[in-house]
Amino acid sequence: MADAPVVDILMYHSISDAAGATSIRPEVFSAQMKAIAEAGIPVISLDALVESRRMGALLPPRSIIITFDDAYQDFADTAWPILKQHGFGAMVYVPTDHVGRAESWDGANKPPRRIMDWATVRRLAEEGVEFGSHSVTHSDLTMLADDTLSIELNVSKAEIEDQLGRTIHHFAPPYGMSNDHVVSMAAGIYRTAVGTQLGQVRSADNLNDLPRIEMFYYTSIGRWKAHLSGDGAGYLRKRRFWRTVRRYVPGL
Ligand SMILES: [Zn+2]
Repeated sequence: MADAPVVDILMYHSISDAAGATSIRPEVFSAQMKAIAEAGIPVISLDALVESRRMGALLPPRSIIITFDDAYQDFADTAWPILKQHGFGAMVYVPTDHVGRAESWDGANKPPRRIMDWATVRRLAEEGVEFGSHSVTHSDLTMLADDTLSIELNVSKAEIEDQLGRTIHHFAPPYGMSNDHVVSMAAGIYRTAVGTQLGQVRSADNLNDLPRIEMFYYTSIGRWKAHLSGDGAGYLRKRRFWRTVRRYVPGL
């Protein structure tokens, strides 16, 4: 029997020369995208993943979904032109209270980065970029009472829908912080949510707690090409192990 399809959901934040683990240099991003094109692995949408589950539609043996958290202006300026060169789509998760301003949430970069304004979001949506919610305020949702959590999940969705005139089906929790309660609340509102897990999506994975691939681990193009060619499983396992250890051993 053939192996079940595997989907890599790539996680990006900023594409810029800024320091820090949430920033990838434009030339590295460009090389990562070129490697996907050369490997011939199709870039699909989250909607296609949902459809494959609902309708039993066939996915290719391997495919890729490209996502960006925080909706930074550098997505519009730098990432999207590179994606367009390859004909790749992308999902951008928007923290709605921060649109058109500089990021100001806990742990924001210094200096703060600008978030796209609504005019830019609307223009990109017309060009084919997909948008999802990244909450209203960019808070750790696991710390909130239910009424506040409900506002974070529902109001962000409604605001993006108002701006774009289309239904928003996808969610990413800020900081990747989630738990069973957040997952189940979001599952009543959104078709998919990405979660805290590092890894590749397989057919048994919950659409409301999808694993992603942290692209900062793949700034070495050789390592990224190895992953794309199917030789990267050992490396991913090791990263997942250390990430779990760090979660339980604070300060490591
Ligand atoms: Zn974020």
